[in-house]
Amino acid sequence: MERHGAYLNGVWVVATELVPNVNPSDVTDVIGLFADADQELLDQAVVAARSAQPGWAAQSPQVRADLLDRVGAAIDADATALGTLLAREEGKTLPEAIGEVRRAAQIFRFHAGEALRLVGDFQDSIRAGVSVTHVREPVGVVGVITPWNFPISIPAWKCAPALAHGNTVILKPAELVPASAIALAEILDRAGCPPGVFNVVTGRGSNIGAHLVSHPDIDAVTFTGSEEVGVSIAAATAGRLVRVQLELGGKNPLVVMADADLDLAVDCAVDGAFMSTGQRCTATSRIYVEEPIYQIFVDRLLARTESLRIGHALDPATQIGPVVDGRQLAHVVDRIEGARALTDVQVHGGRHVRAATDGHFLTPAVVIGAGNECEINRSETFGPVASVQSVADLDQAIKRANDTAYGLVAGICTSSLRAATEFRRRADTGIVTVNLPTAGVDPHVAFGGRKRSGFGPKEQGRYAQEFYTQVKTAYERA
Ligand code: NAP
Ligand code: MG
Repeated sequence: MERHGAYLNGVWVVATELVPNVNPSDVTDVIGLFADADQELLDQAVVAARSAQPGWAAQSPQVRADLLDRVGAAIDADATALGTLLAREEGKTLPEAIGEVRRAAQIFRFHAGEALRLVGDFQDSIRAGVSVTHVREPVGVVGVITPWNFPISIPAWKCAPALAHGNTVILKPAELVPASAIALAEILDRAGCPPGVFNVVTGRGSNIGAHLVSHPDIDAVTFTGSEEVGVSIAAATAGRLVRVQLELGGKNPLVVMADADLDLAVDCAVDGAFMSTGQRCTATSRIYVEEPIYQIFVDRLLARTESLRIGHALDPATQIGPVVDGRQLAHVVDRIEGARALTDVQVHGGRHVRAATDGHFLTPAVVIGAGNECEINRSETFGPVASVQSVADLDQAIKRANDTAYGLVAGICTSSLRAATEFRRRADTGIVTVNLPTAGVDPHVAFGGRKRSGFGPKEQGRYAQEFYTQVKTAYERA
């Protein structure tokens, strides 16, 4: 069994405690033993990142660009192996996993360009003979805490811009998916990343995650994960005035208008709700269908849902892989059973099923007739569950769609430009989609939510520099 340590200051450090990384498609398949690092190891990583930071910031931007470019190329070259590893540890299907890996490569390449595109500006002062420049400088040492559902692309979209702009990084990946983060560290190491610039420490969030967030020598924390942990991080960083970026949960609506292309609408619903086993912060969880097509849409959605093949992530026939672990499975089943117990609510699917291998398999669930007040429509489930309701018109659909604590993505399927435009204007979310699944896939545009879905500057694309740089205003008299 392979044993993996932490990567800090350019070397692999053995931890005393190790934990098995188990394949959710087959719990007899153990991917390796990974460090359950203690706070002392994390402290060492912070020291390494701190001492490497000034040198990294002083490098030519071309050096940073070249490193990120080599990392992007290496990820692409290894996409099948990395995707297989990711599918084994997280449970999404192999094509989904390879797609995620390729996206991580695109992100590194995009931010290779960003390293060279950092611009300031120059202007005259209102005082004669004085000029003013704005420049963007690195923030310093960035703590990166990531969830289990995108084991390589979320680390990529936080670490690549951090490094591009001259910061150094300590990545704390989710405990369930350490292998992809360690593989990323191996790639950065092989690509010639200087010691201390990029560090990965694996272990428990409640232990080293909390320690990282409250560490006095961290300048910024970027986090993707649950609302509960996000709120605790906001509180921990506020007292020290450390900048923080939080990407949290979603309860994303999809509106289907009577004039929609029905095939397209069903495709959007199935993809949005069930792909990646519904374990996406952008997953469609509430579907509002205009009354005239409500019944035909439900019939079509149920037929498609029942035809989906659930199984081992590496089986080419599989369309939906397992839930990530037993605890998450119990949580999702509990939510589904809560809905099933309601009067006048029907639940199709949503059963824990056996397959050829011993994995955490769950059939996708369609909930019919639960109102917005029901728990299934209020709190994030983070599993393959979609709840469908009928609505009278666009106005009612938008009001119901916005009736939530979250604000990540909202989608509409319609052939009316007027309806699409009105929806885009009134949807209270960070992302809107029209005739597409609820998702945020492009690496070059902003990603992030409103309300309880996100806090702080947006991620990705050119917007990433808001978080990973700080503006300096310089007045100069010649
Ligand atoms: P989580 O429990 O909040 O964990 C996220 C990360 O935080 C993990 O690395 C975790 O470590 C760490 N952590 C846990 N407790 C901590 C603490 N007290 N201090 C510091 N770090 C701590 O979330 P998850 O279960 O991994 O992921 C699912 C959640 O993420 C869902 O709610 C989903 O909506 C959200 N999500 C949001 C987005 C977005 O962009 N908006 C994207 C993906 C996922 P351990 O793994 O060791 O516990
Ligand atoms: Mg695992």
